[in-house]
Amino acid sequence: MESLEENEDTIAAVATPIGQAGIGIVRMSGPRALEIARKVFQPKRPVRSFQSHRLYLGHLVDPQTGSKVDEILLSFMKAPHSYTREDVVEMNSHSGYLLLSIILQLLLNEGARLAKPGEFTFRAFMNGRIDLTQAEAIVDIINAQSERGLQLASQQISGDFRSEIEALGQKVIEILAHVEVAIDFPDEEPGILPRQATVGRIEEDLIEPIGRIMAAHGQRKIWMDGIHTVIAGRVNVGKSSLLNRLLNEDRALVTPVPGTTRDVIESTIHIEGLPLRLMDTAGFRKVKGKVERIGIDLAERKLAHADLSLIVIDQSRPLNHDDFNLIAKSQGKTALVIVNKIDLPSRLDEGSLKKALDGLPSVRISALTGEGIDHLRKAIHRLVLEGQVDMMATHVVPNLRHKEALSEAARFFKSAAQNTKDGLPAEIIAMDLNSGLEALGEIIGAATNEDLLDKIFSQFCLGK
Ligand code: GDP
Repeated sequence: MESLEENEDTIAAVATPIGQAGIGIVRMSGPRALEIARKVFQPKRPVRSFQSHRLYLGHLVDPQTGSKVDEILLSFMKAPHSYTREDVVEMNSHSGYLLLSIILQLLLNEGARLAKPGEFTFRAFMNGRIDLTQAEAIVDIINAQSERGLQLASQQISGDFRSEIEALGQKVIEILAHVEVAIDFPDEEPGILPRQATVGRIEEDLIEPIGRIMAAHGQRKIWMDGIHTVIAGRVNVGKSSLLNRLLNEDRALVTPVPGTTRDVIESTIHIEGLPLRLMDTAGFRKVKGKVERIGIDLAERKLAHADLSLIVIDQSRPLNHDDFNLIAKSQGKTALVIVNKIDLPSRLDEGSLKKALDGLPSVRISALTGEGIDHLRKAIHRLVLEGQVDMMATHVVPNLRHKEALSEAARFFKSAAQNTKDGLPAEIIAMDLNSGLEALGEIIGAATNEDLLDKIFSQFCLGK
């Protein structure tokens, strides 16, 4: 991202989303924050010296022309008691793209530099206020898709994850201490480094707890990112009706996703707290009325990428080749077959359906009357959480980066255990333990390279 010397700069950015809103915030951080603010801020009542953590009412004035830009509230957070541990000034103004751009431009004219995405948080990290896991948790809080995800991110932000990793590091150091002494006093090694007991410690204190933390990674995707779900089925089986019923119950968040095609709409619905992300629902609605074939092909392609497939069939019509094909394609995946329209007389051949399901779970509902929807919700919940570790028991959910570092650490510790068992020299064991310790350090940012930092902080939005 940048070298430490550049931190001498004072950075500025708009911290609230651009668009119409009640309040907009422009934020500055760095040694010149207050000095720059004073050039453009005219307080309502004269201020001799700005005090930390106070709000000041006044006008933002263009120093070039003397014209008033907006009435604002200014707050000053003196270093080190701020988000970045530097002097921070925030200006609450009215919102609106033009106004916020003008305010930002004034600050840049007076010597601030435009912040890069995540640069405020990067400074908090560089200045030692937060570790890497906490910085990542900030991204998670912003992006959380469920209450549980938010709760997990909050625990991470409070430093729970760091404590856990540090405790593991402490265990490594304790074992290393024995190994190092054995290196220095080879004659006394059997007493200092009893091989069998040392292997036991490496396994119990390091390898097993790391395995438990890694196992929680699967939950992360579920609670933090949401479950990519596809509703598939022939035309007229009731996909839209089902979706609408679920949406209405959830008072869903329907968010247009910019960037891709204009028709792509993603809805997030919560099933017993689980965030289900229904992709491209507009897409399948649009396909309706066109040749049925196209709809089925589209569904098949989407199924390949889904975390969860909901296959809808209509029990008031006999099943045809397309129904069977979709069911067959779902074998081996996380899929649920939804038998819809149970309010109508059945024309299903139960025998051939059972054969086609071949163990796939199914539920019977009526999207029209709402019958069976509760069962459907429970079945989805069970299916998604099946085989997952009990998340309520752990409060640490590693992301992919953490998981990779943990797996690397575990690899070194396994090698250390093996070499201890095989009677290899203490020097070799020490090397593995040290490498494992370093891998753990990467998680909290004790040892990091610039590429990694760039990757992490580039996920932030501007002004954060
Ligand atoms: P899609 O093409 O799969 O999205 O199907 P729709 O949701 O548009 O439904 C097709 C037709 O079936 C509509 O007329 C719905 O009102 C009707 N329908 C959907 N679900 C049910 C149901 O459970 N029972 C009955 N009787 N009709 C349903």
